[in-house]
Amino acid sequence: MSGPDAVVVGAGLAGLAAATAVARAGLDTLHVAPKGPGDRRTPAPMLPSVDCLPSSGLVDDPAAVGQPLTRIRIVDDTGRLVRAPETLFDSAEFDLPAFGWNFPNVRLSERFEAARAGLPNLRASDSLLASVSADPGGWRLRLADGTDLVTPLLVGADGKKSMVRDAVGIQARETAFTQAALVCDLELGRPLDGTSVEFHYPNGPFTLVPAGDNRANLVWIDQRDTLAAAQSAGPEGLRETSCAKSRWLWASTQLLAPARLFPLSPLPIDRAGRDGVVRVGEGAHAFPPIGAQGLNLGLRDVADLALTLAATDRSQPGWAVRLSDDYASRRAADLGRTGSMVDALFRSLLSELLPAQALRASGLWALKLVPPLRRQANRLGVGHRWTNKKGAPERPSIRCCTAAYGFGAASLPSCRRSSSARSCRVCSSALAPVASWLNWSKVIAVSLS
Ligand SMILES: Cc1cc2nc3c(=O)[nH]c(=O)nc-3n(C[C@H](O)[C@H](O)[C@H](O)COP(=O)(O)OP(=O)(O)OC[C@H]3O[C@@H](n4cnc5c(N)ncnc54)[C@H](O)[C@@H]3O)c2cc1C
Repeated sequence: MSGPDAVVVGAGLAGLAAATAVARAGLDTLHVAPKGPGDRRTPAPMLPSVDCLPSSGLVDDPAAVGQPLTRIRIVDDTGRLVRAPETLFDSAEFDLPAFGWNFPNVRLSERFEAARAGLPNLRASDSLLASVSADPGGWRLRLADGTDLVTPLLVGADGKKSMVRDAVGIQARETAFTQAALVCDLELGRPLDGTSVEFHYPNGPFTLVPAGDNRANLVWIDQRDTLAAAQSAGPEGLRETSCAKSRWLWASTQLLAPARLFPLSPLPIDRAGRDGVVRVGEGAHAFPPIGAQGLNLGLRDVADLALTLAATDRSQPGWAVRLSDDYASRRAADLGRTGSMVDALFRSLLSELLPAQALRASGLWALKLVPPLRRQANRLGVGHRWTNKKGAPERPSIRCCTAAYGFGAASLPSCRRSSSARSCRVCSSALAPVASWLNWSKVIAVSLS
């Protein structure tokens, strides 16, 4: 049975971007893209990812769709004995027009769909993927509308509960946090002027992201029960809570839309591709929304998929398997580094241990006072690509998270069985605060050298 050269599953932002990239590389492409309810999230990808949007044909002018984030202010409102100083990062200091852009998911999807519509070698189906099985020709897919087809290349952009990932036997250990994220749109008494303001509380940050004029998108991370109670208090109750949490700095705050809750269940990053299957976006990795990395990383997945497609000779048998292996090794370093960074940030913020709190506070003091360190941290935060001396993407040499954080070679017996930076639960839970500080020390050393 002959089928398309590639099938992309999932109509989220990563799926739309991936389907467009695959078709633009010249492959006959089927996009399995059932329409979901409008996604009210407002992801804020960082500048390097946003820079890829015009060249990948997705969005000509990011300014027409989103709002620039030119400053990030961090306010430690934990009330702890050892607190971090208030810190302001300004993109001008790094000669950047902005750190990133805040996009309403719905508007970005519309743009991505328009880009996809113009490609003659791309068909979209609004049916769900019902099953996946191995086939001599690659992968056999059955859609809910009864369509049966075989494709050599399968791109899984089908989110956290990925059927593609499960079907090809890639293990995923989703961990459910007790925290969730509450998002809603606010009208403030005065504009944020491009500044994203993060109030850090003991259970997670309360962040106001500029959405144009006096509008802001709230992303509040806290215990699920606390957020559910705030949500069920109704618009007036939530408005009062928002004002109190933001220290009444934007006086006449109003709610523009009902709040929504997102459970937080990070998905540790494993191998991003094999056997003719590649995974992008939350089909491959999911994080708590800290450090604005989710879609950021998803767009970098797609950029690397486009590079891998361009470098693959599709006239040779087995091209899709080679492509998935090349893609996995191209993505490994970036996924490992970003996963470690978000994990360390989240754990160091929530840690109840005084030494960990002191380390976090001194880390922020160091960032505030040492400009080279700030520059290095900025490169890490926006997703700068490190390359080796030959200009090739840096390959991971780490065997477990202790090594990722700076301990050097794996030092715990349990780590020796680990194959990726996020795979060792022992060190990620017990040593994260210390390891996080060691990582910062490493960054300080690099910055000062
Ligand atoms: C509160 C919050 C704030 C965030 N803020 C930021 C931020 O500031 N910056 C940032 O970069 N990221 C942020 N993120 C993350 C970002 O929103 C996500 O990474 C991104 O939207 C995920 O896109 P995706 O396409 O990978 O997955 P999804 O949007 O989950 O898309 C998956 C798609 O697959 C489809 N699907 C599933 N199963 C099937 C099937 N069997 N057949 C066919 N289709 C299927 C679904 O219908 C869905 O359309 C945030 C996330 C949250 C929760």
